[in-house]
Amino acid sequence: MSELLMPEARFADGARVEIVQPSARDLRPGRMPYAASEHKGRLSCMFCDASLHHNAGTPVIAGGHPGRQAHFVTDPGSRHGETCLLPPRPQDGRATEYDDTLGWRIHINTLDYSDQFNLAAGPYERDEEGRLRLKNPALKTHRPVAVTDVKHIATLIRRGQFDRLRASLVMMADRAQPLAWDEFLIRYMRGGDEGYRYKGLMNRLAWGGRQPAVLEIVTEGGGGRCVESQPVRTLQRGLRLDIIPRVWLDNRDDTRVMGSMTGAGRYLVLGVPRLSQQFEGRKGLVRYLNISVTDRRQVMPADIDRLMEEGRLKASRRKRQLPGLAAE
Ligand SMILES: [Zn+2]
Repeated sequence: MSELLMPEARFADGARVEIVQPSARDLRPGRMPYAASEHKGRLSCMFCDASLHHNAGTPVIAGGHPGRQAHFVTDPGSRHGETCLLPPRPQDGRATEYDDTLGWRIHINTLDYSDQFNLAAGPYERDEEGRLRLKNPALKTHRPVAVTDVKHIATLIRRGQFDRLRASLVMMADRAQPLAWDEFLIRYMRGGDEGYRYKGLMNRLAWGGRQPAVLEIVTEGGGGRCVESQPVRTLQRGLRLDIIPRVWLDNRDDTRVMGSMTGAGRYLVLGVPRLSQQFEGRKGLVRYLNISVTDRRQVMPADIDRLMEEGRLKASRRKRQLPGLAAE
């Protein structure tokens, strides 16, 4: 996995602690925009004392390179420390003991193409020098995984460690508690399951929640800027309620984004869904679930059943290999 791009840095000057953003664009409350004259050479990681520097990003080139937003990266030779919560890189040599019987701690890191996930993260608190700590220290032993692409979610499913997956937690969300896996991966309805994960998501959003999610959708294809999924049929107080996921392919500078969903079939879409008002359709009540896609890394054609099948195969192969490995 590539170098982590950090959306914020810490500037500590005596008693004064500032949180610095890479640019003045979309400045969040309580943040300062990066100013080379003041901050250059004096920034550190939000979680530890690793030194960081500013990267101004690269512009979007039509039809070519997708571009990168401004961000912070670790200085060459600088290492993230023992207390750091970011997923470790090989060079960090961190001694954190992870408990691999626990679920993964999933960090969504999509800053180089979208800052919609990089909200003030609820599961943390600050120490006196502004370093972030997990409010719940028990989470520290969950092995961290960085997700920069929806393909990384597919890879986790293909590993076939389903109990571990179900126990995984998703950190990058604007709420005090991390998301549970089944609140994050929203499967399209299967057989008689009545789309309960979609219904759960709809209820959380209806109460004013905001969260990242991976939606599994089923489309007849066709392309265009808005791709509509077949409806998820649910019941609400005995009445039919259709939840219709709609994907907005929205990047005028990278035409490949528009072309990423032309074929019919199932797709996984990573984004921050928004719920429409409820209205009366021809066959019953309808609510749209809108999700915006600005980068191809948010979409892939995939069927969760097939990914799980691959995972099961992998798991059974692992089991067969184990006795042999033990004998060596
Ligand atoms: Zn760090």
